[in-house]
Amino acid sequence: TSHGTTDDEPYGAQNLVAGSWRSSERTATRTGPWTGRPASVAAQASEIEVDEALAVAPEYARAVRALSPAARADILDRAAALVTERRDDIARHLALELGKPVKDGRGEVVRAAETLAIAAAECRTAGGDVLSTPGWQRGAGTMAMTYRAPLGVVVAITPFNAPVNLLAHKLAASFAAGNTTLVKPPPQAPAATEAFVRALLDAGLPTYAVQVLHGDAEVGDRLTSSEVVAAISFTGSAATGRAVARSGAGKRLVLELGGNAATIVCADADVDDAARQCARTGFSNSGQSCISVQRIYVHRHVADAFVERLTKEVDNLVVGDPLDESTDVGSMVDPAAAQRVHDWAREAESDGATIARGGSLDGSTLTPTVVVDPPADARLLVEEAFGAVVVVRPFDDLATVVDECNQGRYGLQAGIFTQDITTVVDAWRELEVGAVVVNGTSNFRLDHVPFGGVKDSGVGRESPRWMIDDFTHVKTLLLKGQ
Ligand code: NAD
Repeated sequence: TSHGTTDDEPYGAQNLVAGSWRSSERTATRTGPWTGRPASVAAQASEIEVDEALAVAPEYARAVRALSPAARADILDRAAALVTERRDDIARHLALELGKPVKDGRGEVVRAAETLAIAAAECRTAGGDVLSTPGWQRGAGTMAMTYRAPLGVVVAITPFNAPVNLLAHKLAASFAAGNTTLVKPPPQAPAATEAFVRALLDAGLPTYAVQVLHGDAEVGDRLTSSEVVAAISFTGSAATGRAVARSGAGKRLVLELGGNAATIVCADADVDDAARQCARTGFSNSGQSCISVQRIYVHRHVADAFVERLTKEVDNLVVGDPLDESTDVGSMVDPAAAQRVHDWAREAESDGATIARGGSLDGSTLTPTVVVDPPADARLLVEEAFGAVVVVRPFDDLATVVDECNQGRYGLQAGIFTQDITTVVDAWRELEVGAVVVNGTSNFRLDHVPFGGVKDSGVGRESPRWMIDDFTHVKTLLLKGQ
C-alpha cells in the first residue's frame, strides 16, 4: 500500500568512522511503512570499517577520559538544547522511516533532550566514597577512597521502536562516564539516528566520543565480540539479547529486552480513567514499546463497563498519515509485523475470544485492535505482541491474577489501578517486574528513574545514574598509615 504525497529524496545515511562521515558502495534502502516509498538509504559498514572503528577506539577512549566531567556535562547540556531545537526535523525522520506519528516522534525527541540533561546533571555529581576503615582491626590507620573510572570502549545497540531516546540513554551515560561509544543503529531508523548524532556533534560532542556503524547482525556481532570493547548496552528482543550475551560474554552487559506487560484494573479503580489511559498508551507508537499495554486484567465486577469505555476511547483514536499532526496511530514497522499481530488476533478469536474493535489490516497498518477474553495460553497473552493490540481478561481475585502475570517468561513493568494502599503494596512486592506503576498503565517511564526488567526482559537498569555505574568500575585508593 502506498500512502502520502511526499516527493522527498530518501535521506542518505552514512557511517561515522574515525572522525569522518563516509558513504559506501553497499547500501540498504529503508522503505517507509506508511508511504511504501524509500525513506532512507544507509551506507552499510564493511568488516574493514568496523575493524577500523575498533582500532581507533582505545585512543578515542583516552581522549574522552581526558575531558573533565564539567566539560562533558557542559557538552551534554548544549546538546540537550540543540536536540530540542531540531525536534521537528528528527521527528519527521521517525515518521517517514517508522510510521511513528509526528506528535509521538517529537515527544520522543524532547524526552531524549531531557535524557541528555539528566546525564549532564549526573555527570556533575557522580563521585566516589570515603570508607571508614579504622573501625575494623586490620584497617586501623588506613583510609580507603573510591572513584568511578571509565571502562573505555562501549558498544550501544538500539532497536527500531524508540531509536532516538534509547540512543540518548546509552550514549549520554557512556560519555558522562568518560567512555567512547560505538553505535549500531537499527536498520529501520538510520536517518533518525544520524540526525540525532549530528545534533550532538554540532553542539560540541567531539568526534572521538562516537562512531556510527550501520548494518544488522554481522556488524553487531563483530562489535560485541571484539576484545577492544569493555561494555555493551543492548536494547532489543530477547532472542537477540541472548546472542549478544553469548558473543559479549565476560564484558559488562546491560540488556533491555522484551515484555508482554500487564495492567491490572481493580474493582475500586476509576474505570473511566483506566480505560482512557489504556487506550492512549496501548496504541501509542502502534503498541511498539517494550512496556506497551498488552494484557489488561479487569476485575469481573467492572469488566463490562471497562470494555465499553475502552472501545469508545479506541474509536476516538485517529489512525492515519504519521506526518499529520492529528494522527494518534500511524503504521507498524513493516507489513510482516502487522500481519503477525493480525494473525495472532484471529487465532485468539478462533479459540473463543471476541474481537471487540479493529483487527483490519492494510499494509503495515493494523487498526487498533481490542481482543476480549482469549484463553490463558493464547499467543497474544504469553508472547510479546509488540503491535496495535490490547487484550482484556476478566479476573476474580488479585492473588490469582498476580500468579498469572508472573507465569510468563518476561517481567518488565506492570500497571495497577486501585485506591487501596494494601493492594498497591502487595502488587509492588509480588509482581515479578522491574517497576510497578500505580493508577497508570505499564507504559510509563521517567528517564531519570531506574528502568529494566527481570527474567527474559533483561539484565541491569537503564537511566543515567545507573548506567554511569554500569559504564565505570570502582577504583579504590588505600592510604596506609602507621
Ligand atoms: P531486534 O532484537 O531485532 O534488534 C535490535 C538491534 O539489534 C538492532 O539494531 C539489530 O540490528 C541488532 N542486532 C540484530 N542481531 C544482532 C546480533 N547478533 N548481534 C548484535 N546486534 C544485533 O529488536 P527490534 O525489533 O529492533 O526491537 C524490538 C524489541 O526491542 C522488542 O522485543 C522490544 O520489547 C525490545 N525493546 C526493549 C526495550 C527495553 O528497554 N527493555 C525498549 C525498547 C524495545
